[in-house]
Amino acid sequence: MIEVKDVHKSFNDNEVIKGVSLSLNEGEVVTILGPSGSGKTTFLRCLNFLEEADSGSITVNDHEVVFGQASANDVLQLRRSMGMVFQNYALFLNKTAKQNIMEPMVIVHGYSTQQAEARAEELLRVIGLPDHGDYYPSQLSGGQKQRIGIARALAVHPTVLLFDEPTAALDPELVGEVLKVMKAVKDAGVAMIVVTHEMQFAYEVSNRVIFMADGVIVEEGTPQQIFESPQEARTKSFLNRFT
Ligand code: ATP
Repeated sequence: MIEVKDVHKSFNDNEVIKGVSLSLNEGEVVTILGPSGSGKTTFLRCLNFLEEADSGSITVNDHEVVFGQASANDVLQLRRSMGMVFQNYALFLNKTAKQNIMEPMVIVHGYSTQQAEARAEELLRVIGLPDHGDYYPSQLSGGQKQRIGIARALAVHPTVLLFDEPTAALDPELVGEVLKVMKAVKDAGVAMIVVTHEMQFAYEVSNRVIFMADGVIVEEGTPQQIFESPQEARTKSFLNRFT
């Protein structure tokens, strides 16, 4: 369903992604772990062209896009099949929760206002905030803002959701409510690529865990393989910091 092949990305002469490949089946959850600066965020941003990779390709739903040769239409089509959830929520501060969820539906995907409003109200119920549609981001907690961010990304029925450290900016007591919504997204059958430091989530919810360091995949496997019997020294030393 999603096939990412041999992605390379440099900033000036600093190569930060050095040939990363990944495949993801329908409804599968892949977690990417790794030390700070290993390229996790850059890799994720390359997938939906928030950064343009230098080479490699991505295929989503049989449509292949080659990095470095993509047309505007390729990028648009790719973005339509993906949703992204950001560490800092990236909500419009001058719009209400409901308007934030509606915005991409109307602007990018051509929904009518009525259709978008109905879908936004449905999603507000899914994320447990049915009465918060008229609240502005400044009136919401970090956990609530991130749940709105997830609803916005989910609104247009994407093939895959990309999460960039979705709980990293949250106070510890708010992390659980966001992880609960992410589990519900998985249960609804949406594929997810999640960059996170939440080891419990990676262990319990992922189908596969990837450990990245210095711009390459060092090791990947099931959560049991990676957490219970990592093979590579770098994986072992990274995981030791969390025990
Ligand atoms: P963290 O866990 O701290 O978020 P990360 O694994 O996500 O780290 P990236 O943010 O992808 O790592 O950064 C990888 C490398 O690329 C770092 O050395 C970073 O300084 C560099 N980098 C990222 N974005 C840019 C940019 N826009 N310009 C120049 N260098 C960048």
